[in-house]
Amino acid sequence: MSIYIHIPFCNNICTYCDFCKLIYNKKYISKYLDNLEKEIKERYKGEIIKTIYIGGGTPTSLDEEELTALLKIIKLFNLCDNYEFTVEGNIDSITNTKLEIMQEYGVNRISLGVESFNDNIIKFLGRKHTRKEVFTKVNLVKKFFTNINIDLIYAVSDDINIVENDINDFLKLNIPHISVYSLIIEDNTFLKVQGFKNISEDIDYEMYKYIEKKLESKGYIHYEISNYAQKGYESKHNLVYWNNDNYYGFGLSSTSYLNNIRRVNTRNLHAYLNGFYFYYEEEEDINIRMENEIMLGLRKIEGINLKVFRDRYNINLEEVYDIEFLLKEGYLLKDDNYLKIAKKYLYVSNEIIVKIFN
Ligand code: SF4
Repeated sequence: MSIYIHIPFCNNICTYCDFCKLIYNKKYISKYLDNLEKEIKERYKGEIIKTIYIGGGTPTSLDEEELTALLKIIKLFNLCDNYEFTVEGNIDSITNTKLEIMQEYGVNRISLGVESFNDNIIKFLGRKHTRKEVFTKVNLVKKFFTNINIDLIYAVSDDINIVENDINDFLKLNIPHISVYSLIIEDNTFLKVQGFKNISEDIDYEMYKYIEKKLESKGYIHYEISNYAQKGYESKHNLVYWNNDNYYGFGLSSTSYLNNIRRVNTRNLHAYLNGFYFYYEEEEDINIRMENEIMLGLRKIEGINLKVFRDRYNINLEEVYDIEFLLKEGYLLKDDNYLKIAKKYLYVSNEIIVKIFN
């Protein structure tokens, strides 16, 4: 079983962000943490926990006292011996003392929102750090933790040199994991309102291929469409999502997936602070579950474990979906245990998945 905890507070709002977030305001934090604890006590049934992920928002926007209070709540969970415990942090709000606190409370993985090493791009995205600070802070984090992820965003500008420099800067840091996403202009974001448009798909594709080739040449394993890791550093928590396994979500706007029920919490802070955590839930029928299993599983480079699929749904995948044509044309590849998208078609995985369901 896994746990996701949402801390919605941020020191400033990024121009591309459509996550559930609010500007940090001290007056809400202790009440938020009290309710988080209450929600966990009400819903958590004592299962053994393999992974915890505290995301946001920006968990490191909390001050030292608040961060300690948050991490004390984690003691409510029964952790297994080799658990993975990730906290997301921002370059500008990570400090030596906060890292010490996290280490003391059992955090063993840090995911850093770097997004770019280019000062103009960082500014454009609305982040408050500089390239220089990325190097200083990452080296500080490395004094406490070895299991570190960096998030990068590419395709902000159509200048491929920026992507090349970003990847080269990342490689200089010798960090074991990187998540690289293409910029998406979501509705209700500053960039959308300003009329900012995405770069052409051709250039986006060229950048995607550059990133993949460069990282693989340096020994990173491409294990999910947007994720690369040195051997043994794959994100155990994110694999729970891609494997369509069960997890609890606690906190504002979080989602849980338990016993075929997808439950979503409220996005309304005042409702949450008054103990009204729940927004809606939906029991997924077998067809939705199988579709999710395929959509999520095919994000992984190794693909879907066909035996797990058969055990979960009592039927072979190919008895439900006609994938013969996709196999014949080489879009999908299959061996005894796994079904995957051929690597050269991963970039258009959505189109292939749609074809599976039609
Ligand atoms: S730090 Fe993350 S959650 Fe907060 S505004 Fe920026 S992108 Fe959104």
